[in-house]
Amino acid sequence: MSNRAFLSKFKAQTIFPYYHLVRDTDVAHIENLYLFKNTKQFLNDIQILKTNYKALNPRDLLNNNVSNNSFLLSFDDGLQEIHSVIYPILKQQGLKAIFFVNPNFIDNNEGLYKHYISIILKQLKDTGFEKNVLDKIGAIFSFTSNSTEEFKKKFINIKFSEREKVNDVLDLLKIDIRDYLKEQKVYISKEQIQEMLDDGFYFGGHTMSHPPLIQLSQEEQTLEIINSIDWLKQNFNINYSLFAFPFSDRAISKKVLEKLFEYDPNVKIFGNSGLKKDMDKRIIQRFSLENPNKETEKQIVTENMYKYFNKVIRKYHIKRK
Ligand SMILES: [Zn+2]
Repeated sequence: MSNRAFLSKFKAQTIFPYYHLVRDTDVAHIENLYLFKNTKQFLNDIQILKTNYKALNPRDLLNNNVSNNSFLLSFDDGLQEIHSVIYPILKQQGLKAIFFVNPNFIDNNEGLYKHYISIILKQLKDTGFEKNVLDKIGAIFSFTSNSTEEFKKKFINIKFSEREKVNDVLDLLKIDIRDYLKEQKVYISKEQIQEMLDDGFYFGGHTMSHPPLIQLSQEEQTLEIINSIDWLKQNFNINYSLFAFPFSDRAISKKVLEKLFEYDPNVKIFGNSGLKKDMDKRIIQRFSLENPNKETEKQIVTENMYKYFNKVIRKYHIKRK
């Protein structure tokens, strides 16, 4: 059904594809979490988007001046590739975009615990996933595993509240994470944000520390969200409020959203539930184009098909409690 010929039929829709990074080589802090596209594949996506849609400037989105048949790219997590790879490409292509960042990681003094887990898994892989080491790590988190796959699954999915214990694993494996962050420059710097802002790009909050929000109280959720938007306003000359949910927006309550609308009635909030309409026009749903194994045209069509399918099964409009 997802024939690329259908693409022309779905052009009336405005779409918001998102990515994390674009890179031509593997990298330890990402490679055990998800797949990503290389430069050539990303350029191909841009060509497809430009052929079928008009570029939407974030400025027009903030002014509620969005026309049909447009697209706007956004990038989550503030990884250094948004400055070293994506920013030059977008400039050359005459495109603007929004970058959603976690203030705690800017300048590389600390990083996302999921990225640490990926670095650890890379080292465990390089040393052959020794059973006694896996057991020691399991003991730190009070889980057992009977296979490498089971270990990986349990380790990647540890709770946010257990993230401090990841540092114990780094110690156990003698990984100096501060060195890693400084050497690899995993995240962008304040200077780089300023440079991109000066060039007409937009930045939004993505929480302070990228927690799975569902594991926090509503008060903690609201603070994580609003502080990240405020941080951008305090450090740069930003007067707008943009925000994207980390991991998933699925379990976000009406109450937390209402707090955000109270904070700034003109806020634009980005989710990742595909092409759906949320409870409020200020919530924009995105879909990921990051997986290099999925054909881009097909994926855009599939997302559109889901929209019509969800409409039929009455799930198009997201209900929130
Ligand atoms: Zn994220």
